[in-house]
Amino acid sequence: MQVRTRFAPSPTGFLHIGGARTALFSWAYAKRFQGQFVLRIEDTDVARSTPEAVQAILDGMHWLGLDYDEGPFYQMQRMDQYKVVIQNMLAAGTAYLCYCSKEELDALREQQMQQGQKPRYDGRWRPEAGKVLPAPPQDVSPVVRFKNPTAGVVAWDDLVKGRIEISNTELDDVIIARADGTPTYNFCVVVDDWEMNITHVIRGDDHVNNTPRQINMLNALGAKVPEYAHLSMILGDDGQKLSKRHGAVSVMQYDEEGYLPEAVLNYLARLGWSHGDDEVFDMQQFCTWFDLDHITPSAAQFNTEKLNWLNAHYIKTCDIGKLAQDIAKRLAQAGVSDAPPAQLASALQLYRERANNLNQLAQDIHFFFTLPQANAADVEKHITPETLPIVADFAQKLQTIDWTAEAIHAVMNEIVTTHQVKFPKLAMPLRVMLIGIAQSPSIDQVMMILGREASIARINAYLS
Ligand code: GLU
Repeated sequence: MQVRTRFAPSPTGFLHIGGARTALFSWAYAKRFQGQFVLRIEDTDVARSTPEAVQAILDGMHWLGLDYDEGPFYQMQRMDQYKVVIQNMLAAGTAYLCYCSKEELDALREQQMQQGQKPRYDGRWRPEAGKVLPAPPQDVSPVVRFKNPTAGVVAWDDLVKGRIEISNTELDDVIIARADGTPTYNFCVVVDDWEMNITHVIRGDDHVNNTPRQINMLNALGAKVPEYAHLSMILGDDGQKLSKRHGAVSVMQYDEEGYLPEAVLNYLARLGWSHGDDEVFDMQQFCTWFDLDHITPSAAQFNTEKLNWLNAHYIKTCDIGKLAQDIAKRLAQAGVSDAPPAQLASALQLYRERANNLNQLAQDIHFFFTLPQANAADVEKHITPETLPIVADFAQKLQTIDWTAEAIHAVMNEIVTTHQVKFPKLAMPLRVMLIGIAQSPSIDQVMMILGREASIARINAYLS
């Protein structure tokens, strides 16, 4: 069997963390079995769907690298196909016309509620052997209803939640086409999953209630019923529903906030799925491991700290060229558009060890490319009548030495020995002069990358 999965977002908003995880799992499952992953845009809710939301979903998937083998298919462009299936079902007797007016249905509901019954369509236009139907009224355009089985159960072995059974008496005859002929949501999903030969439906468990109806319709169409895996919801850090502060935001916001897509993907992969104790793995590895047996049926909880930890890991280990490209973009936003590539790469090598965020990293290395604004408290504390002559002596030597971190370090040692002071008496004022603050990785490395000319100029600015 060729595995075929799909991601079927409704374009009513951006791609958020929950949607991205559904997409990731569907994508990985197809990859795992050398199958196909289909992208389908469910845009039939015309009032709420927007082209911007479609674009936001495509952008989010692109950023995460979730490539699809087929699509995007748009349901609004498939109306003719749905209508053909509706006609076929009417002809086959698995669907029928219902002429109930809104008033009639309201009255029916009212009556059922008064009698303490669950409101449901009573099947008054449902054809049955030996039943005489009323004459169709002239002034009502009919809807089309699916002829749901009246007896037995509809059941499936959910690959996450286990066996689920619903009695058919719980389900009424759902409308599959409105009076104006447009097909309804559940029906489009059924036709698409069928015609797109979807073998595994992986989706949020807010759709569990739709599944029995969809299975009944698939059966009526003679379609093979796919496997279903309903993913539990994702809770926020605080155990509450995801809020704007964590997760219920566009995945693109993670880009803005300084996360690598690798980190977000690795994080999402572990959100409700596990492979032993493995926490850190790339997508290639994930696609060889991913299965539906190790998805937890309980809700997953978002953990920002863990995401940050993974981000730090990927910032440390990712390809330096790729990192440089990303940081160059962030530096440009901060007004530095001409960072020399070799210098940028060296700066990143030195600083990425201590970073867990790309924005922070860009900010940390900004001083290499433009004069820093020195921190006044650090200036006052470290650039003093005591330290200035030490730095001045040191600066004298810089013109002629080899420009390597080792040589710079050797001169620093020599100067502090001559002046009989501890190393920080030289290193700290130097940091403030060169970087603007008193913290940095080893200052000889910083100077080496900053370059002889810039280092001397920045020191001299304080000596003159
Ligand atoms: N369009 C639905 C949604 O965005 C998903 C439907 C499905 O996966 O079957 O929630």
